[in-house]
Parts: sequence; C-alpha cells; structure tokens
Amino acid sequence: MAGAAGNDVDPWLYAAGDAAGKAMLTHQGKYGARATGDAIAARAKGELRDGAAAWSRYARTADDHAVPNVVFTDPELANVGRTVRQAERDGFRVSSVELPIQVAGSSLHAERYEGWAQLVVDEDRKVLLGATFAGPDVAELLHAATIAVVGEVPLDRLWHAVPAYPTISEVWLKLLEEYGL
Ligand SMILES: Cc1cc2nc3c(=O)[nH]c(=O)nc-3n(C[C@H](O)[C@H](O)[C@H](O)COP(=O)(O)OP(=O)(O)OC[C@H]3O[C@@H](n4cnc5c(N)ncnc54)[C@H](O)[C@@H]3O)c2cc1C
Repeated sequence: MAGAAGNDVDPWLYAAGDAAGKAMLTHQGKYGARATGDAIAARAKGELRDGAAAWSRYARTADDHAVPNVVFTDPELANVGRTVRQAERDGFRVSSVELPIQVAGSSLHAERYEGWAQLVVDEDRKVLLGATFAGPDVAELLHAATIAVVGEVPLDRLWHAVPAYPTISEVWLKLLEEYGL
C-alpha cells in the first residue's frame, strides 16, 4: 500500500497484503487493506491530498512498529514490535527484562507449565518497543502487548493495568517489578 501509507509513489498505484512486501501476514494484509480502502475513498472525496500522517487511519504505521507474530508450535512463540537487536539497530536506547513465566495462572493453566517472557523498553521515553513470549498458549498474551506498544503506554501507567488473578497475564506484573516499578 505504498501510495496511501508512504506517499513514495504516485497515488494511482496501491498494493495491499503480501504484494506490498512489508509484513507478509494475513492480519497485517487485512490492516493494510483497510487503510488502503480508506485512503482511496478519502482521496476520491478530496479529504486526503498529501501523504497520510503516521497513525492516521490511512497509514499502516503499525507495519513499522508493532507487527504481532505467532509461531504456532508447541510451545508457542509470540512476539510484537522490536526485539532488542532491532531496537538497537533502529537507534533506540534500549533495556530489556526477561523472566520465566511462573505465576499462579500458569500453574493453573497446566501442570509443570514452562514459559518465558521478555519486554523491550525505550529508555528515553519509558515505553515498550516490543515483547516476546514463549510457552503454551502464549499467543493469547500477545494482544495486550500489542496495545501497549501501539499505544506507547508509559510504563508507570502500564503499572496500573492490573492483571486478574489467577491468570498468566500476571507475568506482566512480574516483568514490571523486574524492571524496577
Ligand atoms: C504455509 C504458510 C503459512 C502461513 N501461515 C500464516 C499464519 O498463520 N498467519 C498469518 O497471518 N499469515 C500466514 N501466512 C501468510 C499469509 O498466508 C499471507 O500473508 C496472506 O495470505 C497474504 O494475503 P494476500 O491476500 O496478500 O495474498 P494471497 O493470500 O497470496 O492472495 C493472492 C491471490 O491472488 C491470486 N493471484 C495471483 N496472481 C493472480 C493473477 N495474475 N490474477 C488473478 N489472481 C491472481 C492468487 O491465486 C491468490 O489467491 C502463511 C503463509 C504460508 C505460505
């Protein structure tokens, strides 16, 4: 969807999904298609003349900052946003915290549950750049992380997002404690 999002080609040419060549995943293709359709309609109505502003409904900004990925293996791997290496490469001042997933909710979910979680933090803005989880059914933890990354929720506000007991989401509490909150 280069025409609508990046304004890097003439806006008569649009591509969404894998053809756009950015994040080749069904959910990102659908997201890009929504932005493309809205951009085409807005341009036709004269409501969008220049390039689409980042995070506007005509831009696929999340493709650059917050793509969720799940590897549906057993155990699952789930990631959103940047890894430490990607964040450093993109020039961020980064820290990370990581922990085994060992909370009441994980024991309840499965006996001998084994998992791992990591948050990647932008040290200048104190927001999440990425999160990775490994373990049984961790895909269901991913959308909370996606919201935190897309929303650029400050960590001291995220501290108030209280995970229900006893759920695996209590790993968020442990991670933020590990970070120093
Ligand atoms: C094995 C595998 C597993 C995957 N698993 C996941 C997953 O779990 N989750 C996820 O999010 N993504 C997954 N993906 C990626 C996902 O399938 C793609 O990102 C998504 O299908 C892209 O959608 P699309 O509409 O852009 O392209 P496509 O789904 O490839 O659709 C393009 C369509 O255009 C048709 N076509 C091509 N050329 C022409 C032509 N000249 N004229 C007319 N029609 C044409 C094709 O036949 C096809 O039907 C997986 C991909 C693979 C290969």
